Amino acid sequence: MIPSVLPTYNRAPLQFVKGEGAWLIEADGRRFLDLGAGIAVNALGHAHPALVQALTDQAQNLWHVSNLYEIPQQQALADKLVEHTFADTVFFTNSGTESCELAVKMARKYFYDKEQPEKVEIITFDGSFHGRSSAGIAAAGSEKMTKGFGPLLGGFVHLTFGDLDGVTNAITENTAAIMIEPVQGEGGIRPVPDAELKALRQICEDNDLLLILDEVQCGVGRTGKLFAHEWAGIAPDIMMVAKGIGGGFPLGAVLATEEAASGMVAGTHGSTYGGNPLGCAVGCAVMDHVAEPEFLAEVNRKSGLLRQKLEGVIAEHPEVFEEVRGSGLMLGLKCKASNIEVVNAGYDNQVVTVPAADNVIRLLPPLTLTEDDIAEAASRLGAAAKQVESQLATA
Ligand SMILES: *Cc1c(COP(=O)(O)O)cnc(C)c1O
Repeated sequence: MIPSVLPTYNRAPLQFVKGEGAWLIEADGRRFLDLGAGIAVNALGHAHPALVQALTDQAQNLWHVSNLYEIPQQQALADKLVEHTFADTVFFTNSGTESCELAVKMARKYFYDKEQPEKVEIITFDGSFHGRSSAGIAAAGSEKMTKGFGPLLGGFVHLTFGDLDGVTNAITENTAAIMIEPVQGEGGIRPVPDAELKALRQICEDNDLLLILDEVQCGVGRTGKLFAHEWAGIAPDIMMVAKGIGGGFPLGAVLATEEAASGMVAGTHGSTYGGNPLGCAVGCAVMDHVAEPEFLAEVNRKSGLLRQKLEGVIAEHPEVFEEVRGSGLMLGLKCKASNIEVVNAGYDNQVVTVPAADNVIRLLPPLTLTEDDIAEAASRLGAAAKQVESQLATA
């Protein structure tokens, strides 16, 4: 008999009932160190007092009104995002994949209005992830996500990750945009080198294309800059955001330049919930912390500490781990043993990590992780590695 919850997930047999900072408490009382943060969502950790306050204050006044009316909290969050980024304008969604939908629509509408309606194609890369909506799965294009769901939304050209020549060769009079994650998340914490992001920006300039960056996972302070593309000193035309921006409240956004957004006039797009007062009140509180230079400096400092400890763990367990990669608090441990076994051994040692492609485990802890938490992370990952080693020895 089919379970009452549609069985599309492989769930670990863990039931977390409470969160405090970087810790999750299981129904049986055990405390788990959370190095997953709900897949890079709980940017300020669990039950952060400022977020609890923002949510409960707003909840006592007004939850939802629809976008038929002005929403001051939405205006305030848009103003903050515009102030701190390349963007001139923001549309609010409820998830990453909805941000992907709008990014695609915006790019097409831009060229349609410029009387270049043939420019509809978007170049994307293997290993990418842009969500589970029809545009999202067609954009990423992997068989794992698309098989059985055809006909897929057309207009995506899939290239090999890191193949710049391939990009130049793939551009035709139909190309509208390049869509890329500055650091692939689901793909296994694969950063695009700064020089390559710069080159893609230049290719877009030279060929009249829009650059769409998917910062759903790597944005909102995760890499130690407010947005990951800042490391490369470039800016996109359109950027997809979600995950961390809501700190756990379902919230997403599309940020754009005035030029790229010029086709999106009244009536061209909308959302019932997107940008509602509750979500935006929480989003404002997240931004007030994450956009502070001191906060980002701390993310970078903690990243250094964590990486150093991880190098030690790798050196002690060369049969389990190969290398650490990524930036800020978006780190990947490339495994030699099976990454799924490492994640499971983590559960046994009360540390939560997230598997990714390329046999990687992702460490995406709350950005508010403390030094004590970092020490715990190393010791628990070490214990998990030891367990995997003994499993390998008896296998
Ligand atoms: C998670 C993710 C998405 C999809 O976000 P949802 O909120 O699950 O729809 C899109 N792009 C990237 C890079 C992501 O990590």
